[in-house]
Amino acid sequence: MLNVKGIKRIVGQEQQASMKEKRVLEDWEMHLARRETEALFQEQPETGNQYLEDTLLRSYLKTHLPPKVLEEVHRDLERFGNRLVTKIQPLSWECELNPPVFRQYDAWGQRVDDIHTCTAWRRMKEISAEEGLIAEAYEKRYSNWSRLYQAVKLYLFSSSSGGFSCPLAMTDGAAKVIESLGIPGSLKNAFDRLTSRDPKKFWTSGQWMTERRGGSDVANGTETMARKQPDGTYRLYGFKWFTSAADSDMALTLARIADAEGQCTQGSRGLSLFFLRVRDEEGKLNSIQVQRLKDKLGTRQMATAELWLQGARAELISAEGRGVAAISNMLNITRIHNVIGAVASMRRMISLSRDYARKRVAFGKLLKDHPLHMQTIARMEVQVRGAFLLLMEIVRLLGLAETNLASQQEQLLLRLLIPVAKLYTGKQASAVAVEAMESFGGQGYMEDTGLPVILRDTLVLSIWEGTTNILSLDVLRSLAKSQGQVMAVFLSTVQKKLELASGTEELSAAVQRTREAIGNLQQFMAAVGSEQALTMEMAARDFSYSLARIYTGRQRQESQNHGWAGWEGTLNPTQCHPCHGRDTSHCPRLLQAPVSNLALGTARDPGTATAALGTLCQALPTLPGNNSCPISHPALPSGTGSHSLCPVPPALVPSPSPALLEPL
Ligand SMILES: Cc1cc2nc3c(=O)[nH]c(=O)nc-3n(C[C@H](O)[C@H](O)[C@H](O)COP(=O)(O)OP(=O)(O)OC[C@H]3O[C@@H](n4cnc5c(N)ncnc54)[C@H](O)[C@@H]3O)c2cc1C
Repeated sequence: MLNVKGIKRIVGQEQQASMKEKRVLEDWEMHLARRETEALFQEQPETGNQYLEDTLLRSYLKTHLPPKVLEEVHRDLERFGNRLVTKIQPLSWECELNPPVFRQYDAWGQRVDDIHTCTAWRRMKEISAEEGLIAEAYEKRYSNWSRLYQAVKLYLFSSSSGGFSCPLAMTDGAAKVIESLGIPGSLKNAFDRLTSRDPKKFWTSGQWMTERRGGSDVANGTETMARKQPDGTYRLYGFKWFTSAADSDMALTLARIADAEGQCTQGSRGLSLFFLRVRDEEGKLNSIQVQRLKDKLGTRQMATAELWLQGARAELISAEGRGVAAISNMLNITRIHNVIGAVASMRRMISLSRDYARKRVAFGKLLKDHPLHMQTIARMEVQVRGAFLLLMEIVRLLGLAETNLASQQEQLLLRLLIPVAKLYTGKQASAVAVEAMESFGGQGYMEDTGLPVILRDTLVLSIWEGTTNILSLDVLRSLAKSQGQVMAVFLSTVQKKLELASGTEELSAAVQRTREAIGNLQQFMAAVGSEQALTMEMAARDFSYSLARIYTGRQRQESQNHGWAGWEGTLNPTQCHPCHGRDTSHCPRLLQAPVSNLALGTARDPGTATAALGTLCQALPTLPGNNSCPISHPALPSGTGSHSLCPVPPALVPSPSPALLEPL
């Protein structure tokens, strides 16, 4: 007698028993099969050493850094890349799983306002010091290249930092402000700590600007008052509505100095800049109460608090009424950090998406063998490359400015490019993150893959450190303040680079588009003139996007022209037999290989890959609505459907993107 799972075979019932037995065995098999499926559902997408895998970054460094600097930097970045994958990335996930906890009262009813952060978060602070993530820029070991080197480390760190990039941005900004003030004696200790490599000494800083009545409109929204004390210090009274990294050691903040009658000057002329310690040596808050922690969509690893300043002791560090000018140095730095974060999150999402394409099978073949999927990734890749090159350009210029090596033109260009890059890459990163999420299908939406965390954290990049509109207006301000000089420098820089690229055949279409875009821009500016403030204001966003697209387009052309970018592994046109001897420009066989290679990061032939993608985009019909005016017209009667009254001349209305590659 055979006994299977309680079933007995009895003589005479053999047929029936054997059927039952078969069913049971099938059940078993199904069960096993299910278990197998559960265990081997899908290989996880991964990234390796982000420095070694980033061909564009490596070729950029190779082309630009002096050999001695490159040698040292390369060694350090390779080591850092390994540390990120093996040690820092797991901490980052721990920070996400253990967000800060706020305890207002202790068990006995005493107000304690304790913001408890996890061990991994505190470890991030130590690592930041050990790696010199702030120090590098201020030690200037590599002269003008130190800032770029620091930015590269921050770029690699950003998407593994568990949100710690935010306090680092403000810390860098605070160090910059103190340095620009000549490091006064009273701030020497703070400066040394902000730029220290010693984890025991290292401080982070907050930047407390936003109040209830205004984050953008700080000039009118700041209510905080400062009262002078007999010892020359001040006491601050007010309410700070958004204070990120509220566990920081110090902060820079704005307040209005009250006179003997308690009156303050309103507007930006009434604002002064103050330095304060958040806690004293015993860890007691500096007459500050934490109202609550913000319940945020993303950046949950980091404590963002609402704070009451109830006589917080502070030191005036700007001239009275010059607070906005003094803090602008901080904003320039935090905005550059914002660009770093944007590029880093795009790079991380695309790297993971690329790896997934090599592992996931759909319709009987890997995703990487589906041309349309590869085209989607390639388009994202082009976005991140443009953004990366723009970032490198900015930190290169900043490095020159900080070592007194920048020409007047370079300083003007830097002034213009910071807001342009911040506003453009913030938007780009959100679009790329959403697109990349889709490239994982349903898995992209699953919380425990970590992908939604990247998306959520990316979405804030267009809001903090100045929204898109506010930065667009800042771009206009830079034009007005320099009496058009920034624009003249911008145009002459782009024109010069275009001349260099125009000799390369693959780039001729892109160069032509850039020329047309510049022409549109010049036509627009001539039509508007400096008088029509409203027109300029309404066009500010489109105008700034145009500048960003033109500049990144020209950066990409330059990178391809000089072969920085590792655009490798493309087909030679003569290999395409069906098209041989005819016009090959839209041949799908020719385009498929370079586009795939671009998407997978395996391209070998300078220029061809991006040019191919551009050709492909050009071949597509223009989508309806692409040429319609992007500006809303509140003054127009609704439903007229006409833009004849549009204050923006038509020259600007069609997107003057030179890059052809802006489908997002
Ligand atoms: C997660 C997070 C952390 C933050 N951390 C900090 C921090 O540490 N320190 C700090 O100081 N702040 C911080 N902020 C605040 C942030 O900087 C502000 O929210 C931001 O500057 C916008 O200000 P607001 O919220 O007052 O919006 P508003 O200024 O009210 O803007 C609302 C909308 O109106 C638009 N708008 C406003 N004025 C104009 C105009 N003149 N023309 C056209 N459009 C306009 C804006 O673009 C925006 O879309 C943080 C915000 C977030 C989300």
